[in-house]
Amino acid sequence: MRYALISDIHGNREALDAVLDNIDGKEIDRIICLGDIVGYGADPNYCVERIREISDIVIAGNHDHAAIGLTSIAYFNIYAQQAARWTAKTLTKKNEEYLRSLEFTHIENDLLFVHSTPYQPELWGYVLSPWEAELQFSQFSEKICFIGHSHTPVEYREPDTARRIINVGSVGQPRDNDPRSCYYIYDNDADIGRWIRVEYPLDITIHKIIDAGLPPVLAERLQWGK
Ligand code: ZN
Repeated sequence: MRYALISDIHGNREALDAVLDNIDGKEIDRIICLGDIVGYGADPNYCVERIREISDIVIAGNHDHAAIGLTSIAYFNIYAQQAARWTAKTLTKKNEEYLRSLEFTHIENDLLFVHSTPYQPELWGYVLSPWEAELQFSQFSEKICFIGHSHTPVEYREPDTARRIINVGSVGQPRDNDPRSCYYIYDNDADIGRWIRVEYPLDITIHKIIDAGLPPVLAERLQWGK
Protein backbone atom coordinates (compact mmCIF):
# COMPACT_ATOMS: atom_id res chain seq x y z
CA MET A 1 0.00 0.00 0.00
CA ARG A 2 1.42 3.36 -1.04
CA TYR A 3 0.24 6.43 0.85
CA ALA A 4 0.45 10.13 0.07
CA LEU A 5 0.25 12.18 3.28
CA ILE A 6 -0.66 15.82 2.81
CA SER A 7 -1.16 18.43 5.52
CA ASP A 8 -1.51 22.15 6.23
CA ILE A 9 -2.86 23.28 2.88
CA HIS A 10 -4.14 26.54 4.42
CA GLY A 11 -6.34 27.65 1.55
CA ASN A 12 -3.47 27.65 -0.95
CA ARG A 13 -5.10 26.46 -4.16
CA GLU A 14 -2.03 26.69 -6.39
CA ALA A 15 0.07 24.62 -3.98
CA LEU A 16 -2.66 22.01 -3.56
CA ASP A 17 -3.13 21.64 -7.32
CA ALA A 18 0.63 21.29 -7.87
CA VAL A 19 0.90 18.62 -5.18
CA LEU A 20 -2.10 16.68 -6.50
CA ASP A 21 -0.60 16.78 -10.01
CA ASN A 22 2.62 15.42 -8.58
CA ILE A 23 0.79 12.66 -6.66
CA ASP A 24 -0.95 11.66 -9.88
CA GLY A 25 2.21 10.12 -11.33
CA LYS A 26 3.28 8.31 -8.17
CA GLU A 27 1.04 5.18 -8.12
CA ILE A 28 -0.59 6.10 -4.83
CA ASP A 29 -3.27 3.85 -3.29
CA ARG A 30 -4.47 6.14 -0.53
CA ILE A 31 -4.37 9.89 0.12
CA ILE A 32 -4.67 10.97 3.74
CA CYS A 33 -4.98 14.63 4.72
CA LEU A 34 -3.78 15.59 8.20
CA GLY A 35 -5.77 18.81 8.52
CA ASP A 36 -5.53 22.61 8.33
CA ILE A 37 -7.18 22.70 4.94
CA VAL A 38 -8.09 26.35 5.58
CA GLY A 39 -6.71 29.44 7.35
CA TYR A 40 -4.16 32.00 5.98
CA GLY A 41 -4.92 31.46 2.27
CA ALA A 42 -7.48 32.95 -0.12
CA ASP A 43 -9.11 29.76 -1.44
CA PRO A 44 -10.63 27.93 1.54
CA ASN A 45 -13.75 26.68 -0.29
CA TYR A 46 -11.82 25.34 -3.26
CA CYS A 47 -9.36 23.54 -0.98
CA VAL A 48 -12.08 21.96 1.20
CA GLU A 49 -13.96 20.74 -1.87
CA ARG A 50 -10.85 19.37 -3.58
CA ILE A 51 -9.55 17.65 -0.43
CA ARG A 52 -12.96 16.12 0.20
CA GLU A 53 -13.03 14.81 -3.37
CA ILE A 54 -9.55 13.27 -3.53
CA SER A 55 -8.79 12.14 0.06
CA ASP A 56 -9.56 8.72 1.50
CA ILE A 57 -9.28 10.05 5.07
CA VAL A 58 -9.29 13.65 6.35
CA ILE A 59 -8.28 14.66 9.89
CA ALA A 60 -9.29 17.91 11.64
CA GLY A 61 -6.71 20.67 12.16
CA ASN A 62 -6.80 23.60 14.58
CA HIS A 63 -7.35 26.16 11.79
CA ASP A 64 -10.25 24.10 10.44
CA HIS A 65 -11.81 24.15 13.89
CA ALA A 66 -10.98 27.83 14.44
CA ALA A 67 -12.78 28.80 11.24
CA ILE A 68 -16.00 27.15 12.40
CA GLY A 69 -15.87 28.25 16.04
CA LEU A 70 -14.97 24.82 17.47
CA THR A 71 -11.73 26.02 19.06
CA SER A 72 -10.65 29.36 20.53
CA ILE A 73 -8.50 31.72 18.44
CA ALA A 74 -7.32 33.60 21.54
CA TYR A 75 -3.90 31.92 21.35
CA PHE A 76 -3.49 32.67 17.61
CA ASN A 77 -1.26 35.57 16.63
CA ILE A 78 -3.02 38.66 15.28
CA TYR A 79 -2.59 37.65 11.61
CA ALA A 80 -3.89 34.14 12.19
CA GLN A 81 -6.87 35.62 14.04
CA GLN A 82 -7.67 37.95 11.13
CA ALA A 83 -7.34 35.06 8.70
CA ALA A 84 -9.60 32.84 10.82
CA ARG A 85 -12.31 35.54 10.86
CA TRP A 86 -11.99 36.06 7.11
CA THR A 87 -12.19 32.30 6.52
CA ALA A 88 -15.24 31.97 8.79
CA LYS A 89 -17.03 34.62 6.70
CA THR A 90 -15.96 33.06 3.41
CA LEU A 91 -16.69 29.36 3.96
CA THR A 92 -19.93 28.02 2.49
CA LYS A 93 -22.41 26.36 4.81
CA LYS A 94 -21.75 23.02 3.15
CA ASN A 95 -17.98 23.27 3.61
CA GLU A 96 -18.41 24.42 7.19
CA GLU A 97 -20.51 21.34 7.89
CA TYR A 98 -17.92 19.13 6.29
CA LEU A 99 -15.13 20.58 8.48
CA ARG A 100 -17.36 19.98 11.50
CA SER A 101 -17.58 16.28 10.64
CA LEU A 102 -13.82 15.61 10.74
CA GLU A 103 -12.24 13.34 13.38
CA PHE A 104 -9.12 14.04 15.45
CA THR A 105 -7.38 10.74 14.70
CA HIS A 106 -7.41 7.77 12.36
CA ILE A 107 -5.71 4.37 12.66
CA GLU A 108 -5.06 1.78 9.95
CA ASN A 109 -2.26 -0.72 9.12
CA ASP A 110 -0.43 -0.02 12.39
CA LEU A 111 -0.27 3.69 11.48
CA LEU A 112 -1.70 6.59 13.47
CA PHE A 113 -2.71 9.82 11.75
CA VAL A 114 -3.26 13.05 13.72
CA HIS A 115 -2.82 16.79 13.08
CA SER A 116 -1.09 17.78 16.33
CA THR A 117 -0.10 15.13 18.91
CA PRO A 118 -1.14 11.58 19.86
CA TYR A 119 -1.75 12.83 23.41
CA GLN A 120 -5.03 14.77 23.59
CA PRO A 121 -4.97 16.02 19.98
CA GLU A 122 -7.75 18.51 20.74
CA LEU A 123 -5.26 20.54 22.82
CA TRP A 124 -3.27 21.24 19.62
CA GLY A 125 0.14 20.75 21.23
CA TYR A 126 3.33 20.64 19.18
CA VAL A 127 6.15 18.12 18.70
CA LEU A 128 9.15 20.39 18.09
CA SER A 129 12.06 18.50 19.64
CA PRO A 130 13.32 14.96 20.31
CA TRP A 131 12.41 15.50 23.96
CA GLU A 132 8.79 16.35 23.09
CA ALA A 133 8.67 13.39 20.72
CA GLU A 134 9.86 11.06 23.48
CA LEU A 135 6.91 12.10 25.66
CA GLN A 136 4.50 11.26 22.82
CA PHE A 137 5.80 7.73 22.08
CA SER A 138 4.14 6.37 25.22
CA GLN A 139 0.81 7.84 24.08
CA PHE A 140 0.31 5.55 21.07
CA SER A 141 1.09 1.94 20.19
CA GLU A 142 1.30 2.00 16.40
CA LYS A 143 4.54 1.70 14.41
CA ILE A 144 4.38 5.23 12.99
CA CYS A 145 2.49 8.36 13.96
CA PHE A 146 2.13 10.85 11.10
CA ILE A 147 1.60 14.47 12.12
CA GLY A 148 1.45 17.98 10.64
CA HIS A 149 0.83 21.27 12.49
CA SER A 150 4.37 22.74 12.76
CA HIS A 151 4.85 22.89 8.95
CA THR A 152 8.34 21.39 9.39
CA PRO A 153 9.28 18.09 7.73
CA VAL A 154 11.08 16.01 10.36
CA GLU A 155 11.30 12.45 11.69
CA TYR A 156 11.80 11.41 15.32
CA ARG A 157 12.76 7.82 16.20
CA GLU A 158 12.03 6.08 19.46
CA PRO A 159 15.37 4.85 20.87
CA ASP A 160 16.03 1.12 20.24
CA THR A 161 12.82 0.58 18.26
CA ALA A 162 11.57 1.06 14.72
CA ARG A 163 8.81 3.39 15.89
CA ARG A 164 8.71 6.91 14.46
CA ILE A 165 6.85 10.19 14.59
CA ILE A 166 6.97 11.75 11.13
CA ASN A 167 5.94 15.31 10.36
CA VAL A 168 4.86 15.31 6.71
CA GLY A 169 5.50 19.05 6.17
CA SER A 170 3.12 21.63 4.73
CA VAL A 171 1.53 21.86 1.29
CA GLY A 172 0.41 25.48 1.50
CA GLN A 173 2.71 27.31 3.94
CA PRO A 174 6.14 25.65 4.36
CA ARG A 175 8.20 27.04 7.26
CA ASP A 176 11.55 25.31 6.80
CA ASN A 177 13.08 28.05 4.61
CA ASP A 178 12.14 26.16 1.45
CA PRO A 179 9.14 27.80 -0.26
CA ARG A 180 8.25 24.69 -2.26
CA SER A 181 5.21 22.65 -1.23
CA CYS A 182 5.94 19.58 0.85
CA TYR A 183 4.23 16.22 1.25
CA TYR A 184 5.21 12.66 2.18
CA ILE A 185 4.98 9.35 0.38
CA TYR A 186 5.01 6.18 2.46
CA ASP A 187 5.17 2.59 1.22
CA ASN A 188 3.68 0.42 3.94
CA ASP A 189 4.98 -2.91 2.56
CA ALA A 190 8.58 -1.77 2.19
CA ASP A 191 8.29 0.48 5.27
CA ILE A 192 10.03 3.27 3.35
CA GLY A 193 9.01 6.89 3.01
CA ARG A 194 10.29 10.23 1.78
CA TRP A 195 9.34 13.85 1.53
CA ILE A 196 8.61 15.30 -1.89
CA ARG A 197 9.05 19.01 -2.68
CA VAL A 198 6.96 20.60 -5.42
CA GLU A 199 7.22 24.05 -6.99
CA TYR A 200 4.03 26.01 -7.56
CA PRO A 201 3.22 29.48 -8.98
CA LEU A 202 3.39 31.29 -5.65
CA ASP A 203 3.21 34.75 -7.27
CA ILE A 204 -0.45 33.97 -8.07
CA THR A 205 -1.12 32.86 -4.48
CA ILE A 206 0.57 35.99 -3.11
CA HIS A 207 -1.60 38.29 -5.23
CA LYS A 208 -4.76 36.49 -4.24
CA ILE A 209 -3.99 36.84 -0.52
CA ILE A 210 -3.36 40.58 -0.88
CA ASP A 211 -6.42 41.10 -3.13
CA ALA A 212 -8.61 39.28 -0.60
CA GLY A 213 -7.64 41.83 2.08
CA LEU A 214 -5.85 39.23 4.18
CA PRO A 215 -2.75 40.41 6.12
CA PRO A 216 0.08 40.96 3.54
CA VAL A 217 2.55 39.21 5.84
CA LEU A 218 0.71 35.96 5.09
CA ALA A 219 1.55 36.48 1.42
CA GLU A 220 5.15 37.62 1.95
CA ARG A 221 6.16 34.65 4.08
CA LEU A 222 5.35 32.26 1.23
CA GLN A 223 8.31 33.50 -0.84
CA TRP A 224 10.75 32.65 1.95
CA GLY A 225 9.13 29.49 3.24
CA LYS A 226 8.77 30.94 6.73
ZN1 ZN B 1 -1.13 24.56 9.96
